[in-house]
Amino acid sequence: SAAPDNDPESERVRVAVRLRPRNPDDLSDTDYADCVELQPELRKLKLKKNNWNSEAYRFDEVFTQSVSQKHVYEVVAWPVVESVLDGYNGTVMAYGQTGTGKTYTLGRFGNDDASERGIMIRSMEDIIASTSALDTIEISYLQLYMESIQDLLAPEKTNITIVEDAKTGEVTVPGVELVQIRNLDTFLQLLQIGEANRHAANTKMNTESSRSHAILMVYIRRPQLEKEEKENYQQRGSTSDRHEHHVPIIRKSKLLLVDLAGSERIDKSGSEGHMLEEAKFINLSLTSLGKCINALAVNSSHIPTRDSKLTRLLRDSFGGSARTSLIITIGPSSRHHAETASTIMFGQRAM
Ligand code: ADP
Ligand code: MG
Repeated sequence: SAAPDNDPESERVRVAVRLRPRNPDDLSDTDYADCVELQPELRKLKLKKNNWNSEAYRFDEVFTQSVSQKHVYEVVAWPVVESVLDGYNGTVMAYGQTGTGKTYTLGRFGNDDASERGIMIRSMEDIIASTSALDTIEISYLQLYMESIQDLLAPEKTNITIVEDAKTGEVTVPGVELVQIRNLDTFLQLLQIGEANRHAANTKMNTESSRSHAILMVYIRRPQLEKEEKENYQQRGSTSDRHEHHVPIIRKSKLLLVDLAGSERIDKSGSEGHMLEEAKFINLSLTSLGKCINALAVNSSHIPTRDSKLTRLLRDSFGGSARTSLIITIGPSSRHHAETASTIMFGQRAM
C-alpha cells in the first residue's frame, strides 16, 4: 500500500512491524532461540516455523531491534501528524502481545533521555511547533476497559458515552476533560497524571493495564489561512470584494494515539467469573478492530464499526480522508512463536 506522501485517499492503513530487543527473560532462557529474521531493506520478515522452514511476510516498514524512537516516529507517525495539521483526522495505534513494546513505542517518557521519547510526546512537540497562537490544541485521555470508558484526566468520570453526529459523522465523547495545551510542559504533566490515574484505576479494579486500551485524543482547531480563503474565493470566480463575504472558517481535526490492550489470547478455559468476562471483552474489541481494518484494506464500502466501543471511537478517524498507521510489536523469542504468528497475521490482514 505504498502511496505518495500527501494523498490521504490513496493509502488506507500503513502497517509497520517493530521487533523488541531481547530482554533479560529471553537471555536467561537456556533454550533461547530466535523465531524471526528481518530484512528491513526488503521490508520483509521471516517467521521460523521450525528448524528448517520459515514463512516470509511483507510490511510497509520493518523496524529492527536497533532502530531509534526518532526513526519510528518520523516514518510511521509524522505523516499522520502532518495530515492532521492539514485538517484531516488520523490514527496511530500499536498492537501486540504484552511486553513487546507498545507503550515503549507510543507512551515512553524518556525523562532522563529525550531521545527515548515515544510517539505521543514527539507528536505533541511537532504539533506545538507547527501551530500558532491563533490555533487551539486540546487533549483528552481515556481508558477503555471491558466496554466502559473512563477519563484518565478525571478518573471520577466513568461510563462515558460515545456520541456520533448523524449528519457529519463526527464522533464525540461529551463530558470528558478537554484540556488546552499551550506548551510541552503542560502536556507532559497531563500525561503523567493520566498514567498515575491509569495505574490507580487498574489497582482498584484489580486488573493489569495490559487489559485496557489507552487512547490519547488530540483536537486541533485552526482558522483557515487568509491566503487559502483568497484562493478558494478566486476559484469561485467572483470579482467583488472578498471582505464583504468574509466568513471565518475553522478547520477541525483530530489525532488519536492508541495503546491497545495486549493481544495475547487469554486462556478462557482456565478463566472464570471476572477474568472470563475480561477476556471476552478484549477479544471482542480487538476482533472488531481487525474486521474494520481488514474492510479498509480491501476498500470495502462498509466498515463494521458498530460492534465495539473501540471501533465506534475510531469511526471518524480512520477510513475516508483519515490516515491510519498501525505498528505491530513483536518479541524475538521462539517461546512466544504462537502469539508472534497471530500478531503478524493481524498486521497482514490490515494491508
Ligand atoms: P507493552 O506495552 O507492549 O506491554 P512495553 O512497552 O511495556 O510493552 O515493553 C516491555 C519492556 O520492553 C519494557 O521494559 C520496555 O522498556 C522494553 N522495550 C520494549 N521495546 C523496546 C525497544 N524497542 N527497545 C528497548 N527496550 C524496549
Ligand atoms: Mg503497555
